[in-house]
Amino acid sequence: MELKGVGVGRGLAVGPVLCMPDPLEEPALVRRTTDAAAEASTTRAALSAVAAEFAARGATAGGTARDILEASAMMASDPTVLADVDDRIAHGLTGERAVFEAFRVFESALIDLGGRMAERACDVRDVSRRVIARLRGVAAPGIPQATEPYILCAGDLSPADAAMLDPDLVLALFTRDGGPSSHTAILTRARAIPAVVGIGADVHLANGETVIVDAARATVRISPTELEVSHARRVIADRASAASVPLRAGALADGTAVPLLANVGTHADAEAAVTLGAEGVGLLRTELLFFDWVVAPTVEEQRAQYTEVFRRFPDQPVVVRVFDVGADKPLRFVPTGPPEPNPALGNRGLRALRRNEWLLRDQLEALALAQAETGADLRVMAPMVNDADDAAYFVDLAHEMGVQGVGMTVEVPSLALLADQVLEFSDFASIGTNDLTQYTMAADRMLGTFPQYQDPWHPAVLRLVKMICDAGAAAGKPVGICGEAAADARLAVVLVGLGATTLSMTPVALADVRAELALHTLAEARMLAARALQGRTAADSRARASVALH
Ligand code: PEP
Ligand code: MG
Repeated sequence: MELKGVGVGRGLAVGPVLCMPDPLEEPALVRRTTDAAAEASTTRAALSAVAAEFAARGATAGGTARDILEASAMMASDPTVLADVDDRIAHGLTGERAVFEAFRVFESALIDLGGRMAERACDVRDVSRRVIARLRGVAAPGIPQATEPYILCAGDLSPADAAMLDPDLVLALFTRDGGPSSHTAILTRARAIPAVVGIGADVHLANGETVIVDAARATVRISPTELEVSHARRVIADRASAASVPLRAGALADGTAVPLLANVGTHADAEAAVTLGAEGVGLLRTELLFFDWVVAPTVEEQRAQYTEVFRRFPDQPVVVRVFDVGADKPLRFVPTGPPEPNPALGNRGLRALRRNEWLLRDQLEALALAQAETGADLRVMAPMVNDADDAAYFVDLAHEMGVQGVGMTVEVPSLALLADQVLEFSDFASIGTNDLTQYTMAADRMLGTFPQYQDPWHPAVLRLVKMICDAGAAAGKPVGICGEAAADARLAVVLVGLGATTLSMTPVALADVRAELALHTLAEARMLAARALQGRTAADSRARASVALH
């Protein structure tokens, strides 16, 4: 059987599958029908089994992982929590609900303590979920624990789970939900983990069954033949030996420079960017540096993180995006108000920061300090900017806090239409094609349900890109691309033809894009861009540009 979805990257992988259990529902608040003593003893048994499981995993893991896992084992056997669980059972709750409530109290107590203690709050939640899963007799939620490489099958991944993926263990993954620009896709691409997202159907597989994930063809082959497996293994080996391409600056065939920058969300990404020859950072997603923090990082804590990134790029530009909070990137330490029916259209990005100006001030102060300490070529930009009023607010505040080189992420169509106004006083623009596609096409980037719309090749998106690049050229200001579109080697050429002055992408895409740019002159790139602009659909624009390219 072959499943089809949306491919992320071009990789191929073969291996045994491990399925990620669906998230657990909150235990219902109903009266217990069982005997209190029996319920308490079953619950205690589940708690001690989970504690033992953590301790055993810690002993095998060693190092810092051992400390973390041992702390989790202690949480599962904490006498105060155990007494609280017993008490709640005695007052009529089920074991599941008693565990849920007692650990929730424990979690809030840690959050109130702040600092390092607050950072353990998510570990408490993990312990509680594991105990509840055991009481229900179902598999524990989250990324499966494995010691041998495997292919992950999941409904979808939370940003936290996606960020935990270990490329040494996860050979590839495929998901029922998720679109090509979702954070699952971005984080897997950044770790060079081949993925096929948005399969659209639940797949019931036994753990250990062999599958082949082919991201370039966007397919997942279930129960492949031996011939298919050996063919896939041969292709993987051939690609590994062809992977060493010389590192050089990005340029077209006629020598036109196109600086190739990196999108970075972790220190590991920053290291990969240097290794893979990035000419700087085109997008530092600062919210990913702090996505699991429960309390807001102080100015000092932020300065330390930014300094570490800046030091890796002496004499190269580093474009930092201030916290893009909300929608697909929730940060627990930023109050974004009650849940919204359409969070991507609501209180996110600069909108959320304007309502929490203390946070933006702290972040800009930390960036200015890190810049002064390292001498970095720092530029700062804001996400989810709607118009010149938003842009002027951000420029003024950044200057007040001592940051120069201030630009805007253009990812909302209103700002694309007003780019001429904004580029009069901003220093640069960087087009976020992931959100620009989502908002232009009214197609949710988190879903794979409308891939024909959630595609940056769409002529409607390309025409907006051209409008922004034209505004940049008229104002004499650079316009870069920092969305995933820049990582698509063929589209990268078209984007340069439309007027993009730099391209920023996940570090693993640098080699492909560098090689493709070197095949075309600026005149050819412009010709391809003109052809793509005339497409009627994303597929049509891609085909028009591809015919002439190959
Ligand atoms: C974008 O929207 O294209 C972008 C670069 O930002 P993010 O994917 O982090 O929303
Ligand atoms: Mg965006």
